[in-house]
Amino acid sequence: MKPAAFTYHRAYDVNETIALLGELGPDAKILAGGQSLVAMMNFRLARPSALVDITRIAGLDYQRRDGDGLHIGALTTHRAVEKAKLDGFAVLPKAARWIGHYPIRCRGTFGGSIAHGDATSEWCVLAVLLEAVIVLQGPTGQREVPATEFFHGFFMTATEPDEMVVEIRFPRPAPHAALTEFSQRKGDFAVVAAAARLDLANDEVLTSRIVLGGVGPKPVVVDADLAGRPATEDTWRAAGEAAAAQVDPPSDGHGSSAYRKKLTATLVARALAEAAA
Ligand SMILES: Cc1cc2nc3c(=O)[nH]c(=O)nc-3n(C[C@H](O)[C@H](O)[C@H](O)COP(=O)(O)OP(=O)(O)OC[C@H]3O[C@@H](n4cnc5c(N)ncnc54)[C@H](O)[C@@H]3O)c2cc1C
Repeated sequence: MKPAAFTYHRAYDVNETIALLGELGPDAKILAGGQSLVAMMNFRLARPSALVDITRIAGLDYQRRDGDGLHIGALTTHRAVEKAKLDGFAVLPKAARWIGHYPIRCRGTFGGSIAHGDATSEWCVLAVLLEAVIVLQGPTGQREVPATEFFHGFFMTATEPDEMVVEIRFPRPAPHAALTEFSQRKGDFAVVAAAARLDLANDEVLTSRIVLGGVGPKPVVVDADLAGRPATEDTWRAAGEAAAAQVDPPSDGHGSSAYRKKLTATLVARALAEAAA
């Protein structure tokens, strides 16, 4: 299938992108890796009047340490993250392997995934888990939005039509973090994804955070305070059951609500065990 007609524009820096988006109006869209947008255009799920291609913008493809934190440029591909050695953030390269297939990971971008706002996206789930900050640039400059406030609903985010995601900032390392998921075929989007982060001391949980994908219109933070609990399989299993009891997932062709609840219990327990290991 071919997309409906649109005009094509290429931007060579962020300011030019913002200016073009302003000129072309709210029906214009940024084109990054094209791995979601082009498919949606082919299926007429998206019908932008114009595309602003940002793939030639130099200097937005990086993974940079800032003290303890990590900054990822919007045009960094999934594959670049998959190949990186990110001390304290090993959960990111590990999770990259769940994203689609190799060619998709070579073209799809970190910023594109965040801007697209799919509730099952590994980067969206991990941005919420690790309390990342999304840096947006628009006509009046930059603003920072916590990932916990960035995702508004099905493919809806805090990004305004004349703004661009330029960077994703992860404030602190998470050596005990993991993401796991289930999909019917390798490379498909997750039916349910579960991510967990722990702080541990003497085989006891100090702090915990659990985030789910695929159980609602945006990544869902589970209410789970495991502080003081032993780092054991029993704790992880109970936390999985507690997480499943909190969600009311949708039913669709990939699985019923009840099936997704069962997946939630299993995957949360698995993510916690992996995070603790
Ligand atoms: C078969 C298949 C399987 C896939 N499986 C997975 C998977 O398992 N997990 C997963 O997370 N993804 C998956 N994807 C999607 C893939 O990860 C995409 O790369 C990603 O969703 C979007 O990144 P992109 O750079 O391709 O963005 P594009 O497709 O170019 O753009 C997506 C949307 O974001 C907007 N946008 C892009 N960049 C910016 C920016 N910097 N600022 C503001 N707006 C921007 C665009 O206007 C568009 O609305 C899959 C794709 C396919 C085709």
